[in-house]
Amino acid sequence: MSGYSNQGQGGFGRRDRDHDRDRGDRDDKTAFLNRKSTKKRVCRFCADPKFPLDYKEPKILIPFITDRGKIIPRRVTGNCAMHQRRMQTAVKRARVLALISFTSSHPPQH
Ligand SMILES: [Zn+2]
Repeated sequence: MSGYSNQGQGGFGRRDRDHDRDRGDRDDKTAFLNRKSTKKRVCRFCADPKFPLDYKEPKILIPFITDRGKIIPRRVTGNCAMHQRRMQTAVKRARVLALISFTSSHPPQH
């Protein structure tokens, strides 16, 4: 008799409408990516073997971090896997040495 109990009925129709509204925000993110990826993607360190990749040279590492101190992903910078990994290590070391900032709320003091 009482075998049928409908669980979780309804509610889906409303969610789909909310999804359509959020699409406007996504355009901003892709615009941000397109702006950076318009450059031709060549690994800077491979292109110039003499280009130093060193944790003691914050000037070289700064182009690879955002204003908030985050490391920019390889798909944006165009680095090769080896140099991106070395750059990551260099950035992390430079942070510990206070050569570059961890976040925007801890600016480097020169
Ligand atoms: Zn490279």
